[in-house]
Amino acid sequence: MTTVIRQNDLIDSVADALQFISYYHPVDFIQAVHRAYEREANPAAKDAMAQILINSRMCATGHRPICQDTGIVTVFVTVGMDVQWEADMSLTDMVNEGVRRAYNHPDNVLRASILDDPDGARKNTGDNTPAVIHYNIVPGNTVDVHVAAKGGGSEAKTKFAMLNPSDSVVDWVLDMVPKMGAGWCPPGMLGIGIGGTAEKAMQIAKESLLDPVDIQELQERGASNRSEELRLELYEKVNQLGIGAQGLGGLTTVLDVKVKDYPTHAANKAVAIIPNCAATRHAHFTLTGEGPALQTPPNLDDWPEVAWEAGDNVRRVNLDTVTKEDVKSWQPGDTILLSGKMLTGRDAAHKKMVDLIAKGEELPVDLTGRFIYYVGPVDPVRDEVVGPAGPTTATRMDKFTRTMLEQTGLLGMIGKAERGPAAIEAIRDNESVYLMAVGGAAYLVSQAIKSSKVLGFPELGMEAIYEFEVKDMPVTVAVDSKGESVHQTGPKIWQAKIKDEAIKVV
Ligand code: SF4
Repeated sequence: MTTVIRQNDLIDSVADALQFISYYHPVDFIQAVHRAYEREANPAAKDAMAQILINSRMCATGHRPICQDTGIVTVFVTVGMDVQWEADMSLTDMVNEGVRRAYNHPDNVLRASILDDPDGARKNTGDNTPAVIHYNIVPGNTVDVHVAAKGGGSEAKTKFAMLNPSDSVVDWVLDMVPKMGAGWCPPGMLGIGIGGTAEKAMQIAKESLLDPVDIQELQERGASNRSEELRLELYEKVNQLGIGAQGLGGLTTVLDVKVKDYPTHAANKAVAIIPNCAATRHAHFTLTGEGPALQTPPNLDDWPEVAWEAGDNVRRVNLDTVTKEDVKSWQPGDTILLSGKMLTGRDAAHKKMVDLIAKGEELPVDLTGRFIYYVGPVDPVRDEVVGPAGPTTATRMDKFTRTMLEQTGLLGMIGKAERGPAAIEAIRDNESVYLMAVGGAAYLVSQAIKSSKVLGFPELGMEAIYEFEVKDMPVTVAVDSKGESVHQTGPKIWQAKIKDEAIKVV
C-alpha cells in the first residue's frame, strides 16, 4: 500500500532529532560510561569520566549541547519503494532544511561548524548545512532515518588501509589505535568496516556506530560469526593498550567495538576505523505517513548522579598574576583550578597571528604572560555568558606553537588531548606548559566562565580571539615545563600495570 509522506513531516523530524541529540546522550552510551567510571582504577581517568557524566546530566536537564562541537550531520535514509512524497523539495533539501532549523533553534542555538570550499576560503555556511546523506531504497512504504552529529575531533582520527588478503585486521587495528592519540575523546566506540571497496569500508564503519552499546550481551552469548569474534577480541585487546579516558592511562579506552563487513574482491581487504567520541550522538525515527516522528525524552533517573570534587592536593592559580617561575613548579598530572583572564584562539586565529608575525605586523592582542585556550564556543542563549565551551584538539596548533611561544610572550596553553613532538620540544625549550581540559565536558566547563568578550579577529565568528574570565576552571598539567607529557607516561604505565598485575579490562 502506498504511503504519502509530507515534506514538513520529514523536516520537523530531522530538526527535532538533531536538537534532541545535542543534549541527550543515548542512554546505553551513558550507562556504559558509568560502568567504566565505577571500575576505573586510575584516578585521573576516573576524574575525566566523572566530568563527562556530570556534563551529560547537566545538558540533559539544561537542554544545552553536550559538546561545543555540535558535529557534522550524517544521515542514513532508507526509503520504501511504495512511498509517495507530498513535497516540492528534493529529499536532500528536506534533510538540509531540518538541519538548518535545528542548528538555528533560538532556545538552543547549536554551533555552525561546516565550512564551504574546504581547501580554499573555508567559509562557514552559517547553518551547519549541508549534511552528509546516505540513501538506500528498499521494498516497503515507510521512511527510516538515522541521524547522527559527528564530532570533528573523532572524525579526524579515522584510519583506512587496503590490507593484503592475508594480513591481520587485529594487528592493524592494534597498530593504529595508539597512533590515534586522544583527540577522539575516549572513552568511546570504534566502528570498523571490512571489505567491499575503499568507500564501502568507510561507509559501513560509520554505519556501525549507530548500533547500541551491547558488547556485554555479546560476551554473555558468545560470537556466532567472524565479525562478532573480532568485536570480542578487539574490545579486550584495545582496552589492554591502557590508553584510558582522555588518553590519561586507564582500564577503559573503548566502551564497545562495532564491526560490519561486506563481500570484497579477491585481491583486496579494505579496512576502516572510525572512532566515536565522548559526545556520541545519534537518533532514529520512522515516518509512516502519520505525521512527524518526534523523539521521546528519556527518563533522567537513568543518568547517574556523580559528584566531582577537586581533591586536597589541587592547586589554585590566578591567571592574572601567574609567572614563569610559578609554571616551572607545576608537575605532570597536577590538577589546577584556573581563575582570572585567559585568551582563546584555535586554528584560524593561530594561522592569522603567525602570518601577521611573519609580515612583521602587530597582533590584535598582547599575549605577553597570557594563557591561550584552544576553543570555539557555542553562542550563548538567554542569560548565558557563553555557550558550551570545551577544548579542541591541541595537536592542530602544534605547528604554530614555537612561533607563538618565542615571538609573542605567550606563557601557556590549554587544550584537549596530547601534544606532538614539535610542540613538546617548543614547550620544553621555552619552559612553558600545556594544560588539558576534558574533551566532551563542554557545558560543565562553560559554567566556570564568568565573562566573555571578543578581542580580535571578530570576522572569524566562533574562531575569533575572545577573552574569558574564569573561576575555578579544572585542568590537568599535561606537558610540564621540562617537556614531560602525561599522554606518553600515562598509557605506558597503565599498559604495563594491566599486563603485570593481570588486571581484567573487560
Ligand atoms: S567529545 Fe571531543 S571529539 Fe567529540 S565532538 Fe566533543 S571535542 Fe569533538
